[in-house]
Amino acid sequence: MVKFVILLLLIAGLGLGVYFASFKKTPQYNNVPSKMKAVSKIRAVGDDECKIQVNEAITLLKQKAPKHFQLAVDYLGTIECVEDGSDIFDYDQPARVKFGKLTMDEGVLWLSSAIVHEACHVKQYNDFRQENLTKNVPDEVYKGKNAEGWCLEVQADVLEKMGSDKDTIDYVKNSINEEYWKVPDRIIWW
Ligand SMILES: [Zn+2]
Repeated sequence: MVKFVILLLLIAGLGLGVYFASFKKTPQYNNVPSKMKAVSKIRAVGDDECKIQVNEAITLLKQKAPKHFQLAVDYLGTIECVEDGSDIFDYDQPARVKFGKLTMDEGVLWLSSAIVHEACHVKQYNDFRQENLTKNVPDEVYKGKNAEGWCLEVQADVLEKMGSDKDTIDYVKNSINEEYWKVPDRIIWW
């Protein structure tokens, strides 16, 4: 009788073990190479290369610039890789950003800094919404010369923290004179 009870307990234990183990499975990731597994809650939308590039950029931020990493994670929901036509949808909750191939292929340092730059715009947008308790955010809050000047400073700062070369940092600082934000959406090539 005692043997029978022990056997029964063993079977029950085994059953419970199998039952709980099934919760740990994440079947949808079973065949995804580790390089493509998301390293934060930011979702990469695109092909395998896109997912790997986004992961590398976010990992670099996490390691070298934790505060900027936090900014990106707090304000960005989705990073989408597109052919051309980089864009930001500040009003999506959480916000969505699109990066063209030119931006994606500029290297991991550049992509990391571009992610932070766009997160900065989303923060501008959301801060205004929260501080003024309104959904009507004027364009100049997160677009145009002032808004760009602020986010270029943040971008230059993160490039410095990641050990970028001086030429790239200067390029970012000087781009305020390029007035790139005036380029119409339909012909953005980056
Ligand atoms: Zn900008």
